[in-house]
Amino acid sequence: MSIKSELLTCFKCLPGGWYNKFAENLVDEIISTCTETELKLLQILDIKEKYGELRVYINLSDDKFDVILDKYTKMSRYVCMGCSERLDELELEIPICSNCKS
Ligand SMILES: [Zn+2]
Repeated sequence: MSIKSELLTCFKCLPGGWYNKFAENLVDEIISTCTETELKLLQILDIKEKYGELRVYINLSDDKFDVILDKYTKMSRYVCMGCSERLDELELEIPICSNCKS
């Protein structure tokens, strides 16, 4: 299995809207930021929704990774977890559009 598909498997726990919108891009960005050594060490420790945001934790600590993960956390607040639709307003609890809510 390629590193990419291995990492993508970890994201399967996410709601579909977030998975479809973020998983592949996030994994691509992390992989392309890694040095060869980092790529061998890289592990995803946890992926979850917390306070309505996507939180991804990896075992490598470096500003370059924080910047990427932080960007996705911020974007996730405005993306419906159900259908990936962009939300205009910040949802304070869970980002979910009115269609998916009903
Ligand atoms: Zn939706």
